[in-house]
Amino acid sequence: MDFALSEEQKMFRAMFEDFSKKEIAPVAEALDHEETLPLTILEKAGRQGFLGATLPEEHLGADLDFVSYALLMEALGRDCMSVAVSLGTHVSLVAMSILRHGSEAQKEAYLGILAAGGDGGRDVRLGAFALTEPDAGSDTSRLQTRAGMDGEEYVIDGVKTWVANGEMTGLFLVFAEAPGGMTAFLIPADTDGVTVGYREPTLGLRNVPFNTVYLEGCCVPAANRLGEEGDGREIAEAAGERMAVTLGAAALGVVEDSLEVAAQFATERVQFGVPIAEKQAIQNLMAESTVDAEALRHLVYHGAWQVDRGGGLGSVGSVVKVFAARVAQQVTNRMVQVMGGYGYMEDYPLARKYRDARALGLIGGPTELHYVRIAERVFAGRDVAITP
Ligand SMILES: Cc1cc2nc3c(=O)[nH]c(=O)nc-3n(C[C@H](O)[C@H](O)[C@H](O)COP(=O)(O)OP(=O)(O)OC[C@H]3O[C@@H](n4cnc5c(N)ncnc54)[C@H](O)[C@@H]3O)c2cc1C
Repeated sequence: MDFALSEEQKMFRAMFEDFSKKEIAPVAEALDHEETLPLTILEKAGRQGFLGATLPEEHLGADLDFVSYALLMEALGRDCMSVAVSLGTHVSLVAMSILRHGSEAQKEAYLGILAAGGDGGRDVRLGAFALTEPDAGSDTSRLQTRAGMDGEEYVIDGVKTWVANGEMTGLFLVFAEAPGGMTAFLIPADTDGVTVGYREPTLGLRNVPFNTVYLEGCCVPAANRLGEEGDGREIAEAAGERMAVTLGAAALGVVEDSLEVAAQFATERVQFGVPIAEKQAIQNLMAESTVDAEALRHLVYHGAWQVDRGGGLGSVGSVVKVFAARVAQQVTNRMVQVMGGYGYMEDYPLARKYRDARALGLIGGPTELHYVRIAERVFAGRDVAITP
């Protein structure tokens, strides 16, 4: 067993951290308060090749292995979880789904554009993943979005909610019920019948546009179907497993930076005549959180390594996701405590990290549904019915 990063991975990590510190950290607080789309950052990320991080060079990608990509997410997560979520949605959910399940023609048509962040238009354009609906959240077996055949085309009607990157997307990966079952479709944002609607105001992740998207008589050729009719569930689950590790890596970044911010604060803040860092209660909060951070690091890197080995992640993705959400929420909560009232002020970065971390128990499927998948493994081979 080799737990060491390669020299190349270490070099990438330094480069990612450098980018994040220079381009994101100085503006992250202001962006959060203004709830602005981080278009300039994403354009710069595109120039670095991050938008095509795991895509092969033939599709203008950076050809990173998943461990290196996890290091990128970790670095971005340290400074701005919103940027990590937008980029993770684009790469892990959309671009890699096309790479894994797309035809050669689809790869040719879409991957280069995704890696470039658009087709040369004014704004950067990312991919968006449209699965959730008003009445289909955890239970995606009840999608109301319908895809019917009309000659050589599909006609798609429905409403999608919580679509990350909605108003800055060029391409939706949409899941709909077709005659052969749940099916995935690639729908360019400028297709007639597609309307990007309401942007959801949220507790955290305030730089990610989460939109409702309306599909009304939206016609796409059969060539825009990703995989076969009925493959939608498998495509969504594989994407969800990659996203679990992606979010886990971003969570690791949030945890690490929160620890650093609070450690520095505790060293400078004097109460009862000494820095509060010298109080054992504070040391315990820091130590307990460091244990959690180290455990999360190993789980995330192991998950990423397993993605690189190919095949499905199965319940490992759920284990990473559940633990990452728990650790990120607990550690940011503890670090607010370490910083006292200053931790609760919006002028200090902990408040933002605390709000952002809360999303991790919901985004990519709620913790309770991941428990179901883990329980399937626990009771495998026994006569126990596990249903959500
Ligand atoms: C920040 C954020 C970003 C998101 N981004 C996207 C995106 O880009 N694309 C997309 O398609 N979706 C996205 N989503 C949607 C997300 O996947 C759903 O919110 C999630 O699947 C849960 O659905 P729901 O919100 O409707 O909750 P519900 O399904 O209504 O669940 C409500 C509560 O009931 C629990 N529950 C439900 N069923 C069971 C059960 N059988 N057993 C035990 N408990 C149960 C849930 O765990 C939860 O606690 C995003 C959500 C958030 C919060």
